This record gives sequence, C-alpha cells and structure tokens, in this order.
Amino acid sequence: MTRGHRLDLIRIAASTVLLLLSLFLLPQGDPFQSILLILAYLAVGWDVLKEAGEHILHGQIFDENFLMSLATLGAFVIGEYPEAVAVMLLYQIGELFQSYAVHKSRRSISALMDIRPDTAAVERDGAVLILSPEEVAVDEIIIVKPGERVPLDGIVLEGSSTLNTAALTGESLPRDVTPGEEVISGCINQSGMLRVKVTKPYGESTVARILDLVENAADQKARVESFITRFARVYTPVVVAAALLLFVIPPLASGGGWTLWGSRALNFLVVSCPCALVISVPLTFFGGIGGASKQGILIKGSNYLEALAKADIVVFDKTGTLTRGVFQVAVVHPDEVGQQELLRIAATVESYSDHPISRSLRAHYRGEINTQALEGVQELAGQGVSALLEGRRIYAGNDKLMTSIGVDLPNCPHVGTVVHVARDQEYLGHIVISDEIKEGSAMAVKALAQAGVRRSVMLTGDSQAVARDVAEKLGIDRFYAGLLPAQKVEHVEALLKEKARGGQLLFVGDGINDAPVLTRADVGIAMGALGSDAAVEAADVVLMDDNPQRLPLAIHIARKTLSIARQNILFALAIKFLILILAALGIATMWMAVFADVGVTLLAILNAMRALR
Ligand code: ADP
Ligand code: MG
Repeated sequence: MTRGHRLDLIRIAASTVLLLLSLFLLPQGDPFQSILLILAYLAVGWDVLKEAGEHILHGQIFDENFLMSLATLGAFVIGEYPEAVAVMLLYQIGELFQSYAVHKSRRSISALMDIRPDTAAVERDGAVLILSPEEVAVDEIIIVKPGERVPLDGIVLEGSSTLNTAALTGESLPRDVTPGEEVISGCINQSGMLRVKVTKPYGESTVARILDLVENAADQKARVESFITRFARVYTPVVVAAALLLFVIPPLASGGGWTLWGSRALNFLVVSCPCALVISVPLTFFGGIGGASKQGILIKGSNYLEALAKADIVVFDKTGTLTRGVFQVAVVHPDEVGQQELLRIAATVESYSDHPISRSLRAHYRGEINTQALEGVQELAGQGVSALLEGRRIYAGNDKLMTSIGVDLPNCPHVGTVVHVARDQEYLGHIVISDEIKEGSAMAVKALAQAGVRRSVMLTGDSQAVARDVAEKLGIDRFYAGLLPAQKVEHVEALLKEKARGGQLLFVGDGINDAPVLTRADVGIAMGALGSDAAVEAADVVLMDDNPQRLPLAIHIARKTLSIARQNILFALAIKFLILILAALGIATMWMAVFADVGVTLLAILNAMRALR
C-alpha cells in the first residue's frame, strides 16, 4: 500500500464516520446534520469535483468525474444529502480498490519474473561477506554456489558450470560457462561453484534493466486510459443527453412531476457511471502483460498489446532474426596477401563491432588481435567497416562499400555473404561466410500466416542471392535485399501504406543497427536483445530469447487478452443497460445501482485475472 492509498483510506474512513454520526446521533432535521453531511461529502468528493472542474476548463467535459459530480450535486439539490455522500463514498472505495489492484498487479508482474537476486557473496579482505547486490562494486569478486541465482553481471574467473536461463528467456536452455566467459545476472547456477568478477553495478545489470522495463511497461497508463477515454467520449454525452430527456420529456408530456423525474434522471446518471469498465479493462491488460512476461515476452505498454493483436504485416530483418547470425567462414580467397593475413586484417578492423559478421570473423580467426595499431574505426551500417591499420586505410564489407570507394570487384562464384577487403585502393581478397536459418523461423512464418497475418516481408542488407535463398526456404513471398538502414525505413514506410484498415505493421529485428526501423513500425520488436541497450530502448516489445516462434505466441497472448477485455466490456454494458432501464422506470434506486456496479466490477476482475494465465 502506498502513501496515496493510505491517505485515501483516511479520507474514506473520516467520511464514513461523519456520515454515520449525522445519521444516527443527530436528531432528524438538526441543522448541524447538513453541515456534517457536506463535510463528509467534501472529504471524499473534493478531488472528483476539482478534477471535473479542471477538465471542463480544458474543454474535456464528458468523463466519469463529470458524471459523478453532476449526479451527486443533483442529489444535494433535491435534498438527498446522505445518498449523495454514500454514492461518492462507494465510488471512491471502488477507485481505491482499483488503484490498489493495479499497483499490486504491477508488483506481481515483476514477482512473476522472479529474477531479483536477494544477496551476493563478495570476497573482501580474505573473507566472504553476504551483501545486497547494490552494495557490490565493479571489479569485486563474487562467489556463486550451485543452486543460487547469479546476482550480478560478470566474467567467470574460476570454475565451470551450467546456467539455467529460464527466468530470463522463458525457456530452459542450459548454457555452459567456463573461465573467461560472461555470466548474466538472473540465471540460476546449476552445477559448479563459480568465482565471478563483477563487470557492472547492480543498477546497470541485466536483471535491473529487465525489471525496470517490466515495471515501466505497466506504468504506461496513458494509452490504457485512452481506451476508456475513447469510450467515455461517446458514452458520457449519450448518457447525459438521455438523463436530460428523462428529466424534461415525461413532465412536459404529463404536465408535472418535475421532482420525481428529476430524481429519476439523477438516479439514471449515477447508475450510468462505468466503474466496472474503468477497473477491469486496465486490469485485463496488466494481466496479459504479466502473462506474456512469464513467457519471455516483454511488452512495454497496453497499447502495444492491443496493436500486436491486430498484426497485419510482419516485417523481418534477416541477419540475426530469421538466421542465426553466426556465420561460418566458407572460403577465403586471398588475392594479394596470404589467407591467414587476410583473416587477420579483417578480424582486426572488425574488432570493435558488435555486428554478427564481425563477431563471426573474430571467432574464426582465433589468433591474437592487436588493436594497438588500429585507429579511426568507422562502422558503415549496412556496408561494413573501415579503419586505419598500421597506418593504412582498410575497408571490409560488401559490394556496395567497394563500389563506393572505387575498387573493382572480381567475380566470385560462391553464393553467400561476402566480406571484401581492400587496403587503400588495392583489392586484397574476400571471405565468403554463410549463415544458418534458425530452427524456429519456418514454423514462425507459417504460424503467423495461420494466425491471419496477411503478409510476411523480409528486409536485408545482404545480397539478393542470399536473400532469395532464405526467403524461399522460409516461404516468405516478399523480400528486399541490398538495403542500407535508411532504405529499410523507406520500405517500412511504403509497407505501412499497404496494411489493411485497422491492421498493424510489426517489425522484428535483432537490434543491430535497426533502431530507426524499430521506431518507425507500429510495433517494433527486438529479439534476443538482452545485450543491446539501444534496441531495448527503441523497441516496443522485447523477446528475451532469439527464437522467432515467440512472435506468434505474443500475438496469441495479445488476442486472448483483448477478447477477455471485450467480454468484460460486453458484460458490464449489458448489466448497465438493464439497470439503466430500471432506473429510468424509477424501479432502481441509487443504492441498488451502486451495489450492482460493485458486483459487476468484482466479476470483471475475476475474469481479468484469467489473462494472467
Ligand atoms: P541485415 O539487414 O541482414 O540485418 P545488415 O544491415 O546488418 O544486415 O548488413 C547488411 C550487409 O552489410 C551485410 O550482409 C554485409 O554484407 C554488410 N555488413 C554490415 N556490417 C558489416 C560488418 N561489420 N562487416 C562486414 N560486412 C558488413
Ligand atoms: Mg540486422
């Protein structure tokens, strides 16, 4: 319970006491009674009145605050003081309940993930201290015993073990680690004792970043409200108009009974307050976001959940997304220097890049990489890299890069991704590398089509030949190759115009140099992006591992959540409609209406909880 909740509780309690005092301790008609009731009303109703006033000043008249203010002030006008207090009181209890539930569901989303480490065992001055992870500094050494959760990101100094990454990726793919390798916080150490040198403070660790992401996801309340605000914009004026007609027409027709119809109209207004909707819709969305995060799918806000459900076009990046992004070096064709020398040059100039190609070249080279002699490294997104090595300018990259520096290319008969290497203007040779399609890719493309996604498109900076090969194997009917990152954005923009009405365009990338596209798509999805900050920032949805099959799963969860939300809306509206009719006929009292709403709300909440599973 937060401070705000406690304050609300105090006001509700004060108002209840005042209401009871005035009703039971003071004689009927005592002038003091009215004063107590007004105080009781203001204790709970003041901020509703204030908000309604502020909204009117801003030109947004029709919302629930307006509805509540109008109905309760109206009750005062016709002399039903206790009713006015009670209605406002119950409304506020509902609000408190809602806000508390939202608060709890947000907490439970992070609890669900259950990755927060409690303690870290640190070696200090020859002893091992148990501290909270926040207290451990970079470069300190921690001990992680079998069965324990890795509390901080670091590098293994001693020991080897198997790590279970289930909590992070939703899939229990064990990962073996040995000295020199990286461990990320949140994994469970399954077998051996590890001594780990900490590389990041807790605040920047993988665990802290993920938790932050998830909690902020639930925080993005703006768009959830917009779902209801959108609804309220139509609903409220209709209800107010209906109440007005109810107040005016019958008395005019029958020539009297203004008080009777006035109080019926006010009843009608109070009954119309869509409390159940206001509570259950955001709760359902929170449930869906929580359920998805259990599966390793982090959704940054309910609006993206809504958008996922309406996926119409899915655009994939190729390298690292549909393919593994782990290139095998197939052949090395040296023209001017030895094979090993060509590899050394390529691996060295690529040594600062995170691109899968760079990583693979380094892994293949194996030899010592001397970065001392390296200067002025430039990454040319979608083309390659360039750097000064031993005083001469080296270029490593694709045809486009070579053409742009005016180097002629020899013909290479191999199909595959080619890294050409040039020194100054001299062509040194090329390395043909090949990537593998991920196991889940074909299934994912198929599942998307079955889920009604109209079109899957692949964009890549790689060559036409490689792109065609991958697209054919996956059954993707449209692909565009040889693209620079900016051209990918242009294609996404063109595709945005092709989507069906109300449909959404999803872009899925591995996050390496696709931040601009991630931002441009309706829903930008980064996969396997635990390591890449830029992608996690730019994306709207983060898939924790790099299995493309998470995508159809995400769409499934989104649709299920939306259908539960729709059920709740329909149910609440049906009951509402019934009671509205009873109120118009003068059968339902204000008290009945308020209690019916509380009941509907409870049922809707129970239904919303299903989205969590
Ligand atoms: P994709 O669109 O498939 O994700 P990128 O846009 O990252 O691929 O890269 C497109 C092409 O640019 C690659 O296929 C490769 O030919 C070249 N390239 C990009 N980065 C590098 C690099 N670091 N080293 C060599 N070539 C690169
Ligand atoms: Mg890429």
